[in-house]
Amino acid sequence: LIDVRGVCKTFANGVVALQDVSLQVRRGEVVCIVGPSGSGKSTLLRTLNALETISSGDVVVLGQSVHAARVDLDRLRARVGMVFQSFNLFPHKTALENLMLAPLVVSRTPAAEVRTRCEALLAKVGLADKHDAHPAQLSGGQQQRVAIARALAMQPDIMLFDEPTSALDPEKVNEVLDVMKLLAGEGMTMCVVTHEMGFARAVADRVVFMEAGEIVHQAAPASFFDAPDNERLRGFLGQIL
Ligand code: ATP
Ligand code: MG
Repeated sequence: LIDVRGVCKTFANGVVALQDVSLQVRRGEVVCIVGPSGSGKSTLLRTLNALETISSGDVVVLGQSVHAARVDLDRLRARVGMVFQSFNLFPHKTALENLMLAPLVVSRTPAAEVRTRCEALLAKVGLADKHDAHPAQLSGGQQQRVAIARALAMQPDIMLFDEPTSALDPEKVNEVLDVMKLLAGEGMTMCVVTHEMGFARAVADRVVFMEAGEIVHQAAPASFFDAPDNERLRGFLGQIL
């Protein structure tokens, strides 16, 4: 579903954020990406839906080379949902309006149908009683669940998460991780940049370790955490666990 081939990314200021990165993700797979600050995790995620350009290599998502000239970016980003550390909800719209906005703009689906689908999604993330709340009236964990539901409202094939719980109070982290677990259990294809090693261990099919713009190691969680056969990964895990 995702095929990153030899991607390099150098920013205009000369910073090399990605060096010859290759990564394949199959349908239904949950891949967690971990690594120190500045290692290129966000940059890699952002190349997958063309929020970031690449300097060389190729990124094929859903059979389409996403950095080709004629890509329909709206369509790509509808099929590849993204959730950020900051929730980025529209502050003057209610939770339900936040969900309905994009589907109404891009699809020909009747409004009543979109509303029904979006109401069901709010219920799914545990916010059935918050349709009419504005973001400012919601906790961080609730806002992030609205943001996830909003991405799901486009009926994506892939979900990307960039540190979705890093901005949350500790007691709100699990309510968001639980929604992500639910999605993973339903077979959603997910790439998750996270510092939540418990989540990675429990939910990931594969964990990818990045350092200095490179994928240094990747493995199933059991061997990744319990028998890391890579010196640099051992150093990283030694610092954080
Ligand atoms: P963190 O864990 O702190 O979020 P990260 O692994 O997500 O880090 P990236 O944000 O991908 O790291 O950044 C990779 C490198 O690229 C860093 O050195 C960063 O300073 C640099 N970088 C990121 N965005 C830009 C930009 N727009 N312009 C220039 N350099 C950038
Ligand atoms: Mg980042």
